[in-house]
Amino acid sequence: MLFPGTSLSAPALGGDAALAAGAGRLYGCGMLDGLKSNNRAWAARMVATDPDFFKRLEHQQSPDYLWIGCSDSRVPATQIVDVDPGQIFVHRNIANLAPPQDANYLSVLQYAVEVLKVKHVIVVGHYGCGGIAAAIDGARRGLVDHWLHPVRELYREHRAALEAIGDQRARLDRLCELNVIRQVRNVAADLFVQEAWARGQEVQVHGWIYALGNGLITDLGVTIAGAAEAERLG
Ligand code: ZN
Repeated sequence: MLFPGTSLSAPALGGDAALAAGAGRLYGCGMLDGLKSNNRAWAARMVATDPDFFKRLEHQQSPDYLWIGCSDSRVPATQIVDVDPGQIFVHRNIANLAPPQDANYLSVLQYAVEVLKVKHVIVVGHYGCGGIAAAIDGARRGLVDHWLHPVRELYREHRAALEAIGDQRARLDRLCELNVIRQVRNVAADLFVQEAWARGQEVQVHGWIYALGNGLITDLGVTIAGAAEAERLG
């Protein structure tokens, strides 16, 4: 549970909260044994349908996509777009941020663009994001408050439009969308991406949002495919 003590924690981070609720029972060895036996069964299934699957992956990683998503347990990258391991290079953090000073994100972005030469960078937010809600509810939680500072700034920039939305859930969902759009622009403004475009390398940056309630992704239509476009969108 990332944000204990708030009413937003349980619905927003349901999977983790559910685990924490039964901590004594669920954190025992039996729970991990379940994961290990699942792993054996999964590996066997993969080999049954494709005997060379792991041999291929062992020798090559050539994903076309970099996924920048939220750490939320309900938004697993490869699973919700139904692709196998090896197809998406993944970076996840609380509230799917792409902060230009974060060494972790920047390392992933540079490796994805310069070494793996991914063709698409996809920022994937989700409605009902606990991180987005936590950024603006006024409660103090510690380090995460600093991490979420860009979301508070974004809220301030769009305060009038957001506060014109009467329904609180709809207002937060709009902030989730605005956050994705801002992170798309951050990625497109990054030097690694700008340099790739200058070299003539094809990289597109996209913004998607995922609905926990029905499992569907919506493309926010904010794709940036070149330096001129990034400049225009600022
Ligand atoms: Zn989230």
